[in-house]
Amino acid sequence: MSVIEKLNSIQNKEMTAKENVENFIKVIDEKNEELNIFLEVNTESALKQAEAIDKKIANGEKVGFLSGLVFGIKANINVEDYIISAASKTLDNYFGSYNATVIDKILAEDGIILGITNMDEFAAGSSTETSCFGPTQNPAAPGRIPGGSSGGSAAAVAAEMCDIALGSDTGGSIRNPASHCGVVGFKPTYGAVSRQGLLDLSMSLDQIGPLANDTSGIALALNAISDYDETECTTLKGERSDFTSVLEEKSLEGMKIAVCKEFIDVTDAEINVAVNKAIHKLVEAGAELVEVSFDHIDLCLPTYYLINYVEFFSATRKYDGRDYGYRIENVCGEEVLRRIEIGSYISQKEYSGKFYKKALQARSLIRDEINAMLENVDLIVGPTVPKLPHKIGDELTPMEMYAYDVLTVIANLAGIPAGSIKAGEVDGIPVGLQIQAKPLDDLKIIKAMSVFENEN
Ligand code: GLN
Repeated sequence: MSVIEKLNSIQNKEMTAKENVENFIKVIDEKNEELNIFLEVNTESALKQAEAIDKKIANGEKVGFLSGLVFGIKANINVEDYIISAASKTLDNYFGSYNATVIDKILAEDGIILGITNMDEFAAGSSTETSCFGPTQNPAAPGRIPGGSSGGSAAAVAAEMCDIALGSDTGGSIRNPASHCGVVGFKPTYGAVSRQGLLDLSMSLDQIGPLANDTSGIALALNAISDYDETECTTLKGERSDFTSVLEEKSLEGMKIAVCKEFIDVTDAEINVAVNKAIHKLVEAGAELVEVSFDHIDLCLPTYYLINYVEFFSATRKYDGRDYGYRIENVCGEEVLRRIEIGSYISQKEYSGKFYKKALQARSLIRDEINAMLENVDLIVGPTVPKLPHKIGDELTPMEMYAYDVLTVIANLAGIPAGSIKAGEVDGIPVGLQIQAKPLDDLKIIKAMSVFENEN
């Protein structure tokens, strides 16, 4: 049953919201200890919320368009009455005292919040191994990482512990774990969704977005969270699409899609085979396929990490032990410390415009090239992650870990929307097809994903 079919069955009284919550609680009870996905679950408040929704439905009262669907929330998004630790010792006592805008919007549509999911510390990572609560297991590939940094959110939907999960994506943190766990993940256009209440990793790159087992879950969540927010100055004004309007589509007639040679070159051969099969399905559905090239691929990771270090360093200055928990440098893990130290060094040297200014110039080059590419095509399609997820415990160098991100950071640097949907498997391990579009063409990606699912 797809997420939207379940929603309909709750609204038609074939199933209750309470049953939906109870089913998920059962799975969490059975598997969470082994998989380490949810950091905190509030069954009492979720059941209370479900009962209130069921009562409204029974009385024929109007309910929201997420009525009874169950959400897991990444541990860096503020939810009232939960510990919002960002998986860091720094904040292990930080109690969420307000709801992020996206949480209020989900609640306003009768979505149910069940708990908080594991992640890399402060979202700085691609494996969920840097969490102070220990790694999350990949439910789709036992013994392997789920990807990151929203690894708990991707694993939560893959393990059927909730209908939809929220993650944040600064350089791939929604799409990377979606790819590794075989689920759908979506990073909206920068500014389409409010970041108010999100703990920053790198504020000019961060976006909140949904993960689900199918595109209908993504579309429903986007309908709720994608909006202008007067309390958040980077959100964009203007009408949003109805993302559920394209879920029944079966044809991509009239759409031009592009593969990029350089994206294929950096990706392992078996992954390309699986992704090409998926692209072939889009062509069978009527899309016209063209080839493009992207000269600046080598600039992407250095540019992304430089900006990330500087903005993260600045964002962490408030964790000085006075207002929140501990002084971050005293308790954080190795990767977070690396970013703070290098970010501090770069910021000190900045009077000479040596690094950060150069990174911003490089970012403009990348953005211009991507936008020029998208002038002639509707979508860029290709692999989401160039490698398979490693085994938990394998020692990777920082550079090897960063290399996972080469295909995902581009969308954040350019501010464009991007999604990942399961293309197929390599040796039983899921791999994702990434679909990117022009700023505010989020709906086109949802349409292509729907067509892909309807074809399968
Ligand atoms: N892996 C990337 C990083 O470590 C992306 C993280 C993210 O998107 N939050 O910065």
